[in-house]
Amino acid sequence: MIKISALQFEYPSGEFRLNILNFEVNRGEKVAVIGPSGSGKTTLLNLVAGIFLPQMGSIRFGDMEVTQLSDTARRDFRITNIGFVFQDFELLDYLNVQDNILHPYRITSALQLNRQVRDRAVALAQEMGIGDKLRRQSTELSHGEKQRTAICRALLPQPKLILADEATGNLDPANKIKILDLLFRSTATHDATLLAVTHDHELLKRFDRVIDFQTFQGGKSV
Ligand code: ADP
Ligand code: MG
Repeated sequence: MIKISALQFEYPSGEFRLNILNFEVNRGEKVAVIGPSGSGKTTLLNLVAGIFLPQMGSIRFGDMEVTQLSDTARRDFRITNIGFVFQDFELLDYLNVQDNILHPYRITSALQLNRQVRDRAVALAQEMGIGDKLRRQSTELSHGEKQRTAICRALLPQPKLILADEATGNLDPANKIKILDLLFRSTATHDATLLAVTHDHELLKRFDRVIDFQTFQGGKSV
């Protein structure tokens, strides 16, 4: 499903470089990425999502070479195929919870907002325990509620690939399990693939494979 080869990436400041010789995630696989802070886990997810482009190398999503798409095509491709739960959520402060969750449908014609989607958004929010917060401004949410709003927004378009960047961090144990259950259930129901960065080592046994990000450094194959 995802195949990265001979990738070289660096930020414009030139202070951080990522070399990935070979990285593959199969369709339907649930893969956890671990590694110390600053090792490049978030950078990897941004590359997989096509938000960042590498200086060299290939990023394939199925048959699609992501690096060859135009900016608009890459963005539409991402919004329709990838659910990204950002480490810092990236909620829009001026929108309430419901409008944040529906936002992907308002920024691309590739997704059609209809009654069914709206109903699904409400059901998802209820499942995540924020069903009573739909009209609340996103600035007036607790950290955990913001996190759950970001997860609902990522899952609503029923993406083929879920990228979760520490999506269960800073949650109490009960909510942690609940959120992970929802991520796994959504992955299974939609025959999707899950690539999740996590620091919760007790959750790792639920994944098919664990990649230690330190092995990326120096361009080793994983
Ligand atoms: P992780 O998610 O594993 O903690 P990141 O991918 O966020 O690591 O960051 C990897 C390295 O890249 C860090 O040294 C970080 O300071 C640097 N970095 C992250 N974002 C940027 C950016 N926008 N510009 C320059 N350097 C960045
Ligand atoms: Mg990170």
